[in-house]
Amino acid sequence: MLLDMADPNHPAEEALERFLLNHCSETELCEVETHFLHCEDCVNRLELLETEITIFKCCLEKVANLQFTMAAGA
Ligand SMILES: [Zn+2]
Repeated sequence: MLLDMADPNHPAEEALERFLLNHCSETELCEVETHFLHCEDCVNRLELLETEITIFKCCLEKVANLQFTMAAGA
């Protein structure tokens, strides 16, 4: 991936995460959204991160279910 992380204009990974989880402040939301309009790299990053978060949530659910099953003595 040819992404110049030295560019201070790219939102941080944490900012993208907050964006996906709707934890952004008004200002941050505005900045990140504006950035996406002209930076395809970050749109790709966002899509990747979204997939990761979805998989992560899915795993958490499976683990929770498993623990529930085990606790139930099944
Ligand atoms: Zn960018």
